[in-house]
Amino acid sequence: MSGARDATAHGAAAGARAGATGSSGRTVLEATGLSVAYGGNTALALERLEVREGEVVGVVGANGAGKSTLVNAIAGWSRGTPRVAGAVRLDGRELSSLPAHLRARAGLLLVPEGKLVFGEMTVDENLTLPGGVHVAPGRRYYDRESVFELFPRLRERRGHLGAQLSGGERQMLGIGRALMLGPRVLMLDEPSIGLAPRLVSTVLRTMRTLASDGLSVLLVEQNVRAAIEVVDRLVLLERGRVVLEGPAAEMRDDPRIAQAYLGTGHET
Ligand code: ATP
Repeated sequence: MSGARDATAHGAAAGARAGATGSSGRTVLEATGLSVAYGGNTALALERLEVREGEVVGVVGANGAGKSTLVNAIAGWSRGTPRVAGAVRLDGRELSSLPAHLRARAGLLLVPEGKLVFGEMTVDENLTLPGGVHVAPGRRYYDRESVFELFPRLRERRGHLGAQLSGGERQMLGIGRALMLGPRVLMLDEPSIGLAPRLVSTVLRTMRTLASDGLSVLLVEQNVRAAIEVVDRLVLLERGRVVLEGPAAEMRDDPRIAQAYLGTGHET
């Protein structure tokens, strides 16, 4: 029997609890009843999503499924003027009335597609914590050296301008900058986009290192094949709704994932 869950049939909370991961089991991020609508069009209608301490959760789905809408809504960002409703809790604290910068300060950090990098500043300068950053107790703020340990390529490129970096290097730098801001939950929107296959696995495998440091990761990916190798749990979105959710190991064998995304249709 598969532990992967059909949310349409069984409801979100039950399946979320069913996932077996190596995490501590403590819920860090919880979004409930989250909905986003543009005019009369519902882009997202989510019953419940949780990410536990030290867990990597992948959100996958086709173009327009609502993946970016989901992480943007959690982070408090909006493109255009959507109507957003629902609750976002971080370590039990309700954040949904807060603007994006205060959610970030609370530890909800979103790395958009390679956009968290200053092109006119060097790698070293990008990895300099801006003055006035609020340091909260109990969180890990990575320093430049620990970012370089995570991504040795950035050390080699430390004197280069952000604008001179490759897509993969920019992605690493964006993640590094977010880590310096002390995330409780790191959210990444399609970090593999435009990257060479070797770099895709370098960047995604880093998520496992971060999770073993106790960080919680919410990873939006279109590259299901790559994502499934590194996530603990996978959530499949279709038209803004969770249609399938479960431990990655079991989702790999689910015919809906295998046929649509992995190109390994199961013969019966
Ligand atoms: P992609 O991988 O192509 O970015 P996605 O899964 O991230 O896809 P979203 O970008 O979240 O999907 O879009 C979800 C839905 O919301 C789509 O139908 C999209 O057209 C709609 N949408 C997103 N942003 C806006 C906006 N600013 N105005 C109107 N509709 C929007």
